[in-house]
Amino acid sequence: MGTTLDAEVEVPISALEHWSYCPRQCGLIHLEQTFDENLYTIRGRLAHERVDAAAPTAEAAGIRVLRAVTLWSERRALRGKADVIEMRPDGPYPVEYKVGRRGGLHADLQLCAQALCLEEMLGASVVRGALFYAATRRRHEVVFDRQLRARTEDAIEGVRTMLATQSLPPAPNDRRCPKCSLLDSCLPSVVTARDRLRGLQGSLFRPLELGDPDA
Ligand code: SF4
Repeated sequence: MGTTLDAEVEVPISALEHWSYCPRQCGLIHLEQTFDENLYTIRGRLAHERVDAAAPTAEAAGIRVLRAVTLWSERRALRGKADVIEMRPDGPYPVEYKVGRRGGLHADLQLCAQALCLEEMLGASVVRGALFYAATRRRHEVVFDRQLRARTEDAIEGVRTMLATQSLPPAPNDRRCPKCSLLDSCLPSVVTARDRLRGLQGSLFRPLELGDPDA
């Protein structure tokens, strides 16, 4: 866990997926409120449809389904919302709707954080959940094992530190960037060039030390 000061900073669960993909993307969204208009417009339009699409058969099987559930963890100062919670006989089962198709483990952290909240809120163990991908209309089941829990805890503290210090992470400018919805706002090649230039300027004007053999 972070410092006492950091522990007072609440972490939005939605930030964890962004953090896992690229800490700078997380900073642009959660520190600077930058967002991709198109992506969010589409998400808003689908918001009503999403919760029904994510749990099409559970109710038919007699499982109680809760939608748009507010989640929190006092212990971790974590807040968020789950699209769907299926109240199965063997425990709560969170289901999160995703617009596209599966790409990496990033969304698993968001789902795992929902499970951590549910465990604290309900005093029940939550061992698995699912991500529903609209592009393929398939569920991908996620098991909340020790490794995923540890990665999620690390991400929570990483986001908390970023929010507490209000520091925008640097741009990695790598293969993640072409697929990033914030590419136009981030301009990673410009930012990294500027940082490189600053480094070069720093070394150009570094005063020579006394006794420098090249002086
Ligand atoms: S464009 Fe690249 S560096 Fe910038 S937020 Fe996206 S992934 Fe991160």
